[in-house]
Amino acid sequence: MSRVKPGGGGRPPGPDPVPDTATLLRAIHFAAEKHRDHRRKGATAAPYINHPIAVAEQLATAGHGQDAGLLMAAVLHDVIEDTETSEEELRDAFGERVARIVMEVTDDKSLPRHERKALVVRNIGHKSREARLVKLSDLLSNVGDVIHHPPNWNRERKQEYLEWCNQVFAGLRNVDAGLEAALAARLAEAARGIG
Ligand code: ZN
Repeated sequence: MSRVKPGGGGRPPGPDPVPDTATLLRAIHFAAEKHRDHRRKGATAAPYINHPIAVAEQLATAGHGQDAGLLMAAVLHDVIEDTETSEEELRDAFGERVARIVMEVTDDKSLPRHERKALVVRNIGHKSREARLVKLSDLLSNVGDVIHHPPNWNRERKQEYLEWCNQVFAGLRNVDAGLEAALAARLAEAARGIG
């Protein structure tokens, strides 16, 4: 966690600096409320919040546990895309940096699905390191779900999804070696699973 230097000046008063455990828990609570009516796509229809928590947990386990802002962004990464939440709301509650990372990993839902997905592939390599870390962990969680809690998709749809994941993954190299190795292994496992 980065500390704000005393007397360093320059940073206006506001909710941004030094997120602590209470703020991280507040972010989890906020995301849980926002996603309260959502379920994951798999047959078990697990509560949606399991997914953003897993995305944050994977980042913490991979060595990013000191970066509470990154973990908060991970926990909140789907609230703009999937719930009634505005960028201002996030900025007011969790600060500029968290809001910025979430916006970076938020797709433009006004676009048709194929176009939206193509944009992610095209743009992901140009995002901030934090946004790429969140996306890497997001893919790791999603591909894990395709393996362990498969959605009701036919083989073609699964193949198409995994192909898209591989394309996004190409823009996520040199972000975190451990998470990249985990995702490569999981993608290979998923590919074997659908033959
Ligand atoms: Zn996600």
